[in-house]
Amino acid sequence: MAISRRVVLHFPRTLVEQPIIYRLVRDYDLSFNILKASVTPNEQGLLVLELSGERENYEKGVRYLAEVGVQIQPLSRDVTLNEERCTHCGACITICPTGAFALELPSRRVKFLDKKCIVCGLCIKACPPRAVEIRL
Ligand code: SF4
Ligand code: SF4
Repeated sequence: MAISRRVVLHFPRTLVEQPIIYRLVRDYDLSFNILKASVTPNEQGLLVLELSGERENYEKGVRYLAEVGVQIQPLSRDVTLNEERCTHCGACITICPTGAFALELPSRRVKFLDKKCIVCGLCIKACPPRAVEIRL
């Protein structure tokens, strides 16, 4: 069965330049979509990915990541947009680092694209009528 999961990967300094994601594709037949990538000043890497593939391959790929020393944090919380409260002011579009909110034209309504969300929580406080909700 094919699955798709959003995961946060923390790379220690020694692994930042290793072809780890390439191996997930080549050896475990997984596909990925990068939602966020950054390297901190002390050269630790952070990658937020949507990983997709057959469940068995996904589990093997995750085991491989753990074996080489990558810390894996699943995104188990969900963010939802309460359509009844949203005033379509657009404040969330400006603050969201991954483009998970988009303005639909010509209606000028704000749409939430949950697959892009990395559950950083920035939009929760930025939303004046508290229309963004987070489920733990
Ligand atoms: S900030 Fe809140 S009210 Fe404004 S568009 Fe975004 S979700 Fe809707
Ligand atoms: S929690 Fe809000 S600001 Fe953060 S990625 Fe998700 S939608 Fe964007």
